[in-house]
Amino acid sequence: MVGSECLFCKIVDGRIPASIVHQDEQVVAFRDIAPQAPVHMLVVPKLHIPSLEALEQEHQALVGHMVLVAQKLAREAGLAENGYRLVLNCGRDGGQTVFHLHLHLLGGTSLAGRMA
Ligand code: 5GP
Ligand code: ZN
Repeated sequence: MVGSECLFCKIVDGRIPASIVHQDEQVVAFRDIAPQAPVHMLVVPKLHIPSLEALEQEHQALVGHMVLVAQKLAREAGLAENGYRLVLNCGRDGGQTVFHLHLHLLGGTSLAGRMA
């Protein structure tokens, strides 16, 4: 799918509204529309990268930035002490439904013993 038709590109561009919690030069983060935990946010690169499988060496710093933004959001949401989970689904079998790279931040309840 080209970027102009991609759901998350539309959120990045402001063509589709979202509850945005963080924005900088490289990423946008917003609340998931169908939360799987009390806190469920998505950290999305502004660049259209379809999946983890499309990552190249040049994206290394961007992926590191995504993780650090998720850490910042987790701390701001008060999750640091009890913990939280970051999830990156890849491809159909990995449960990926939106083919624009995104990191899930889940927390606010115990996820121990649950992998999905
Ligand atoms: P995936 O299954 O690809 O790893 O995750 C896609 C996530 O995007 C899902 O958790 C889904 O609820 C979320 N999502 C799908 N459409 C929208 C939308 O239009 N707005 C927001 N905020 N989240 C969405
Ligand atoms: Zn996209």
